[in-house]
Amino acid sequence: MSPVNRLQEVPTRPFHYAGARDRDLLCDRVSLARLVREYGTPLYVYSATNILGRVQLFAEAFAGMRATVCYSVKANSNLSILRLLAASGTGFDIVSGGELERVRQAAKSSLRRVVFSGVGKTAAEIDAALAARILVFNVESPAELDLLEQRARHLRKRAPVAMRVNPDVFAATHPYISTGMTTHKFGVAIGDATALYQRAAKSPYLVPTGVSVHIGSQIRVTEPFGQALQRVMEMVRELQSLHGIRIQHIDAGGGLGISYDDPAPTGKDRKDAQAFDPMAAVRGYAQHIRTALAGFDGDLLLEPGRFIIAQAGALLAQVLYTKRNGSKTFVVTDAAMNDLIRPALYQAYHSILPLRRQRNRPSAVVDVVGPVCETGDFFARDRELPALGAGDFLAILDAGAYGMSLSSNYNSRPRAAEVLVEGNRHRLIRRRETMRDLLAGERIFLNGGTE
Ligand SMILES: *Cc1c(COP(=O)(O)O)cnc(C)c1O
Repeated sequence: MSPVNRLQEVPTRPFHYAGARDRDLLCDRVSLARLVREYGTPLYVYSATNILGRVQLFAEAFAGMRATVCYSVKANSNLSILRLLAASGTGFDIVSGGELERVRQAAKSSLRRVVFSGVGKTAAEIDAALAARILVFNVESPAELDLLEQRARHLRKRAPVAMRVNPDVFAATHPYISTGMTTHKFGVAIGDATALYQRAAKSPYLVPTGVSVHIGSQIRVTEPFGQALQRVMEMVRELQSLHGIRIQHIDAGGGLGISYDDPAPTGKDRKDAQAFDPMAAVRGYAQHIRTALAGFDGDLLLEPGRFIIAQAGALLAQVLYTKRNGSKTFVVTDAAMNDLIRPALYQAYHSILPLRRQRNRPSAVVDVVGPVCETGDFFARDRELPALGAGDFLAILDAGAYGMSLSSNYNSRPRAAEVLVEGNRHRLIRRRETMRDLLAGERIFLNGGTE
């Protein structure tokens, strides 16, 4: 079977109904009811097959180009997931010393495929990344370039540098995750980058090797990726022809979006939505990049996060109570905004499915909310769902990216456990946090004393 045919068998989402009369929600071939019995809720579940399928989609769409996927660690930084991705050959895009340490622990040999982004790298983080011999620093300001040179001189190393340029391109997405315009804090204005490359080229401690651009996240209309790279290419040509600086790699950043409102298997959820075709999405994206980079004789780096992991994951929760306030019905779950903050932070939509489908149950229009003391603590508002009662379980879909990685202990809630499914097998990849974990760093001071 050709790889392309095999890919078409990887469904958009790994969550589907099967079993007796198609009643049980599965991840790949594992019953989610079984996982909640074994590990409790709230519980994150991910499909390894789906994650690797997405990496393959990139490989196929960029075939013939010297392209490397550097998975964006902040989307989901679980060590097992990093190990899984590293084994499939990806590099990593990191934004902190903590993420560097995660890559070191999960996949030490992948450190040479790490790109380090972020507007606020500290001297200690730079030192750690220099010592780890990462692929490149994506530098976001003149002051950072100075600090990087100083630290490299101190450690007697040469730091590979890419300027993260801000191409001033508008990409339609939520304002909190748009990054590619001059009003945003990210990168250096593309017009100012040339001077920085000249400075770097003169330094014995800096090696200008690449250029990077990242215009935002959850971008569904892909033309802006091409526009940004056209501007990058103009700069790359000018650097070569006017200044003799040869750019060896272009980093196109991440940001490719997914559909969060795909028609769900119940048919009750967003009936009007178009089916999402991930292969078509990557191919369309790749086409814009290929066109913009035509004639570029170097390597291409890509930093997808969400597209790789979002649809591979779901957050499972149990219904604690249902209640009515005036005209509204609330379904209160044991998962909350501290587990998955996307609805509260970005007004994000997530499909919700019951783990056990009961065909003759009526549906109801409800708000699905958590126990946290914030009105923003909701997963769905005015959503038509099959009637849910106390004790029932549900799955909040497309929660693999910016779910667990954005979780917190707000309201002193221990963090959820995480499980990785592969075919009919599953593994606990993060145990549920305990109260002891939660309190471990704190000290009680009495009367100003220490005991
Ligand atoms: C967050 C981020 C990414 C990943 O974005 P996605 O939308 O998850 O693909 C890539 N590169 C940089 C620099 C980022 O900050």
